[in-house]
Amino acid sequence: MNSNNSQKIVIALTKGRILDEVLPLFEAAGIAPLEDINSSRKLIFDTTMPGVQIMVIRGSDVPTYVEFGSADLGVVGKDLLLEYGSEGFYEPLDLKLAKCRLMTAAPVGAAPVAGRIKVATKFANITKRYFAEQGVQVDVIKLNGALELAPSMGLADIIVDIVDSGNTLKANGLEPLQLIAQISSRVIVNKAALKMKHALIKPLLQCLAEAVEARAQV
Ligand code: AMP
Repeated sequence: MNSNNSQKIVIALTKGRILDEVLPLFEAAGIAPLEDINSSRKLIFDTTMPGVQIMVIRGSDVPTYVEFGSADLGVVGKDLLLEYGSEGFYEPLDLKLAKCRLMTAAPVGAAPVAGRIKVATKFANITKRYFAEQGVQVDVIKLNGALELAPSMGLADIIVDIVDSGNTLKANGLEPLQLIAQISSRVIVNKAALKMKHALIKPLLQCLAEAVEARAQV
């Protein structure tokens, strides 16, 4: 399945706010793209570390690329890892970046729902698991965005979504209720690549771990 040259390492990252936080950390670890990722239309970039390339894809595709070995490493939010739920990679490092919380939220002051609760979310697997563990009966409605609209439009009673400052919920008349998981960006590594490219990947992970540690000291 893995067609990469064994002397090369491909790291899958995600564009957007996570990239802005992750790139400085990679630079501190000696891995900087040779072009400005944000202003280029390219999707794969050589870096200052010989043999190491960075590819830029959607966050929800990072686990897939790493599971199948088309990327050796990836950086992805814990929310997407919990939702994806694969055995195909290791999760050796918490970058402690892009921290947020996965929470339930409901219209401000809403009375608890009697009977089955309608829950709108992008995170259908996590949501089903969470409420099953609580012994609560729910109907999960999968949406791909603008979840905050679902309660006011009568589609759902509550939502399960990412909360950072809480401003998005507030602006839509919602309040956070239960904490489902603390989220941050994680490094994932393809299991076979870690064995076959151990001499390259191990020091790279070490450099990243040191950069995380150094950042925590600031
Ligand atoms: P906030 O208004 O600060 O609570 O941000 C909430 C929205 O921003 C959510 O609906 C998410 O779509 C997005 N968001 C905030 N932090 C993150 C993160 N670390 N990872 C992914 N999405 C996030």
